[in-house]
Amino acid sequence: MPVVQSHWIPGRGVRRVQRTDFRNEPFTNFQDPEERRRFQAALDRVRADLGRHYPLIIGGRRVDTEGRIVSVNPANPQEVIGTVARAGRQHADQALEAAEQAFARWSRFDPEARARALFRLAAVLRRRKHELSATMVLEVGKQWSEADADTAEAIDFCEWYGREMIRLAKPWPLYRPEGTDNETFYIPMGVGLVIPPWNFPLAILVGTTMAPVVAGNTVIVKPASSTPVIAAKFMECLEEAGFPEGVVNFLPGPGGEVGEYLVQHPRIRFINFTGSLEVGLRINELAAKMQPGQKWIKRVIAEMGGKDAIIVCDDADLDEAAAGIVQSAFGFQGQKCSACSRVIADQKIYDELLQKVVERTRNLKVGPAEDPDNHMGAVADENQFRKVLEYIEIGKGEGRLVTGGSALAGAPEKGYFIEPTIFADVDPKARIAQEEIFGPVLAFIKARDYDHALEIANDTVYGLTGSVYSRSRERLERARREFYVGNLYFNRKCTGALVGVEPFGGFNLSGTNAKAGGTDYLQLFMLAKSVSERL
Ligand code: NDP
Repeated sequence: MPVVQSHWIPGRGVRRVQRTDFRNEPFTNFQDPEERRRFQAALDRVRADLGRHYPLIIGGRRVDTEGRIVSVNPANPQEVIGTVARAGRQHADQALEAAEQAFARWSRFDPEARARALFRLAAVLRRRKHELSATMVLEVGKQWSEADADTAEAIDFCEWYGREMIRLAKPWPLYRPEGTDNETFYIPMGVGLVIPPWNFPLAILVGTTMAPVVAGNTVIVKPASSTPVIAAKFMECLEEAGFPEGVVNFLPGPGGEVGEYLVQHPRIRFINFTGSLEVGLRINELAAKMQPGQKWIKRVIAEMGGKDAIIVCDDADLDEAAAGIVQSAFGFQGQKCSACSRVIADQKIYDELLQKVVERTRNLKVGPAEDPDNHMGAVADENQFRKVLEYIEIGKGEGRLVTGGSALAGAPEKGYFIEPTIFADVDPKARIAQEEIFGPVLAFIKARDYDHALEIANDTVYGLTGSVYSRSRERLERARREFYVGNLYFNRKCTGALVGVEPFGGFNLSGTNAKAGGTDYLQLFMLAKSVSERL
């Protein structure tokens, strides 16, 4: 049972509830045969329900359109997961109208009441946990444990941001000069646009939506076009949790059309984007241009790509390093912004480490994610499939192919499967060492020494995650200061940041360093107002 503490807010005269008991949602133990049976049953139920159609949701109303987005199983592109309505500009205008109307009411809800709504949403997500995870297994090819972690993170975001809102509802602790009654407090901003990616199609969708919402804003959500069905299920959860109509409006449609239209709209107050560098920069540029009738500078939160490196020193435990590298590089087919795509190894242990990583990689079984014996599934869609294979061809000209290097037989018709691929002896300036591939492709780079390793690690336009394997305290402390990434890990994999434990967001062109799941995040969606009265 959650521990609930009450305390008194001076100056407000309101009794508030503060939950101090945040704990990360536990991951499901799939070693337990009973849990496996339950998850298999959820997969069967989700499969029996495939092919449904989901309309837009605007102001709580379901609105259908002629256009359709068809979502398919990447492990079997003939299998339709579902269809969703495809929004056009007129729907975007309607959604804006609905969100503005809802803002007038939702922004006046007591912050604690908004937090409570998130706690209820967390409970709904928890009840539907296996169903949501099973949907992701089929819609985007997540392994059971990866999908389970995605849903757990979505629950964590609700629990964390709810508590954060309660904390931030207190007035700031300011100095009060004699004869003055002064306070500063946060207020919501207005109507925001949420544009998430497909790779954490529930966690990032929920986190980037519910943070602005708990802060009192209303939003239009344009989900990624590869994963609209899990997004539609999230909308069902919001309804089940009793969120007022119009607080979250569901507007699937092509990013380059309905997304861009709203990005440029003068009545959009902020944009919460997570996705590629290219699209993030475009959104930032379009949003910066003042439009007729616009009264504010739009706030753009853009969390983008990575070219994440694991440095392995000559004093590291090479077996542990190899295990961490393989998990970070090939979990969910390498399609994580935090995935390891570069190994920078000291020349003294380079060959031994490479051999250990290659051995482990060759043992990875590739096949449909719904079979828990497979370690890697299909990449997310046909675009991903083609793009990753193009990079593999580039890699063949830039490095020494040591394992993988092609699609599985039968692909793409029988699923977008690509072998886990490793290139050795890659030049730090090579394209496959500089550009985000976002697939199961790993570049091994040889470093002369630790100085050289850090220099290579910092030499890309990104700065998202990184990891150092070493037994030397001095080296680790040096990396703490000099390895320029937003999320740095020591002697462990570079993926899997937890809400409330490892606030997430990178440096440089990895984005605006929003630190999702941290204590600064909600302030990105609020304004601070100071009121002072002479007594
Ligand atoms: P994209 O940038 O292709 O798409 C992200 C979202 O933007 C989608 O909803 C997409 O819609 C939309 N979009 C596309 N073009 C436009 C446009 N012109 N205007 C407005 N919206 C647009 O990224 P992916 O979905 O492929 O996601 C993978 C990327 O996300 C990787 O680069 C990864 O590193 C990054 N990422 C970063 C994270 C971080 O925290 N830093 C976390 C997770 C992922 P549509 O689908 O319709 O094209």
